[in-house]
Amino acid sequence: MRSKIVAGNWKMNKNMTETEALLAELSAKLPDSDAEVMVAPTFVNLAVSVRNLEHSTIEVIAQNMHFAESGAYTGEISADMLLDIGVDTAIIGHSERRAYFGETDEILAKKVTTALGKNIRVIFCFGEELEDRKSDQHFSVVESQLKNALFSLEASAWNHIVLAYEPVWAIGTGETASPEQAQEMHAFIRKTITEAYDAATANKVSILYGGSVKPGNAEEIFSKPDVDGGLIGGASLVADDFVAIIKSI
Ligand code: PEP
Repeated sequence: MRSKIVAGNWKMNKNMTETEALLAELSAKLPDSDAEVMVAPTFVNLAVSVRNLEHSTIEVIAQNMHFAESGAYTGEISADMLLDIGVDTAIIGHSERRAYFGETDEILAKKVTTALGKNIRVIFCFGEELEDRKSDQHFSVVESQLKNALFSLEASAWNHIVLAYEPVWAIGTGETASPEQAQEMHAFIRKTITEAYDAATANKVSILYGGSVKPGNAEEIFSKPDVDGGLIGGASLVADDFVAIIKSI
């Protein structure tokens, strides 16, 4: 049985006061759910978030991490630093990291290897751009993103990987993939993992959808058989919206 997950990526939003206020509101309104609920505040607010959620089932996760153990990497955060404050899940490969910070498949493969070596669970993001979809390249783009960053891993590594399919054209645009488009791609992803590994490996991986998920569209997207939850950007910054999305799963 795959985990259902709803994760909120807060990106570069919310100062410490706002972070604590949003966490308190979320904790108070959190519905009973089978889903794992996660939030990814900015790095400077991770430690305070872990402390604030000490008695909550909401998990605090990181938006990114570096592949090196330590050293001369100004501005970066290591796996050990995350573990030290009680964070053991990291988003890796978000399209904004790829687009604005030059994170290539090769860099992401190194990050994934480091994270797994440290027992950090990875939420690995990938997805095609609009031109890829328009030119009918979306399946091959997604396949190569997975292959380049993940398919050298041993099968056992997949116990610690969650996938987040996020078509770039749907992130923060208000335009979302239709539930059918999401299901079609998620089924393709599972087939691709089956071919590279085996069906057992493919069937145990949670595959989240991300891209303008809102209270109004979450239920239909989550109802698809290969969609195991969502990575939520904008709507995770508003407690009532995030709670409504959690209720939809
Ligand atoms: C994201 O950034 O991962 C995301 C899905 O954003 P949004 O929900 O705002 O499209």
